[in-house]
Amino acid sequence: MDKLPLVDLKIEYNQIKAEIDRTIQNALDNTAFILGKEVQSFEYEFADFCNAKHAIGVSSGTEALHLVLRALDIGNGDEVITTPMTFFATAEAISQVGAMPVFIDVEADSHNLDPNLIVDAITNKTKAILPVHLHGRPADMGQINQVAEQYNLYVVEDAAQAHGATYCGTTIGNLGTAACFSFYPGKNLGAYGDAGAIVTNDAELASKLRLLRDHGREDKYLHQIVGFNARIDALQAAILRVKLCYLADWNAMRESIAVRYTQRLADLPIVLPTPSTDIVSVWHHYAICLSEREELCEELNKKGISSGKHYPLSLHLQPAYSHLGYVRGDFPVAEQIADETLSLPIYPLLSERQMDRVVDAVESFFK
Ligand SMILES: *Cc1c(COP(=O)(O)O)cnc(C)c1O
Repeated sequence: MDKLPLVDLKIEYNQIKAEIDRTIQNALDNTAFILGKEVQSFEYEFADFCNAKHAIGVSSGTEALHLVLRALDIGNGDEVITTPMTFFATAEAISQVGAMPVFIDVEADSHNLDPNLIVDAITNKTKAILPVHLHGRPADMGQINQVAEQYNLYVVEDAAQAHGATYCGTTIGNLGTAACFSFYPGKNLGAYGDAGAIVTNDAELASKLRLLRDHGREDKYLHQIVGFNARIDALQAAILRVKLCYLADWNAMRESIAVRYTQRLADLPIVLPTPSTDIVSVWHHYAICLSEREELCEELNKKGISSGKHYPLSLHLQPAYSHLGYVRGDFPVAEQIADETLSLPIYPLLSERQMDRVVDAVESFFK
């Protein structure tokens, strides 16, 4: 039987092949490879998609986080409160500017940082809270912003998995100081290489980010500050403009797949993503939890079905952070999720038949 991947980039490309091929050919014909019109148009269109004022295209989601922390002058000696249940880049960006990630545990149902634990983690070095909208599901931004306001902290959102998600009716990108997006190929909006963007409603911050991503320059050879080469690739921007037109539909398709998974798996002894009326998830992952995670993963694999573990080692236990002194047991909820989480295949063009195959395999595992 065919292998069923976790994400099928090929089937998505085939759906839009003619448009993409034409776009790439155009870009080659125009030989406009750095910044320029495609980048500007993409930034304008992506900001519009987020209902926000500014988008700044950068070279990756990691770089988006890194540049925002730089732009906010967060650095040596500062602390940033974040979740340990995320991809490594979230904390890595904090370390890149010389600041220290301060982890707090997550909520068992949302897998996102538990806002009730923020206050106890605040010290006089705390500069920002960095929530992640894991699996495409917005974190509790209401409570996070309330604490941030009270303690005068920035809120930097890691929205790498949450393009188009909403919290209480507001699109991600308008709920913090700035939101950082990744267009890594497997993301809900994926480039054909590395790319990312920062979305913000703060004009001053947006201007500073534009300088930072392009050698701090105001003009070709006039440099206002020391920056980076962290520009979004113009070819990727052109590709992303095509794909952005499909994103709302693709997110809706993910939603209906998630709804069907939830219906069909409801009677099994597994923990399914819990619904919440406050948020609209964009279902980057469909993550279930069960104590027999390894066994189910293996069983699916034997049947040619891929699954994922997002994420199998909580960041406080990563070798790279051993110097921070965390130990197993510090964040029991995150650690349990790391041991039990399993992501099932989800992508817009996953067919009903393919989904049946996944559900049948999960059902037969429990028989
Ligand atoms: C993908 C991802 C990133 C990093 O994005 P890149 O574009 O790969 O640098 C950061 N945080 C989270 C939560 C991600 O999923």
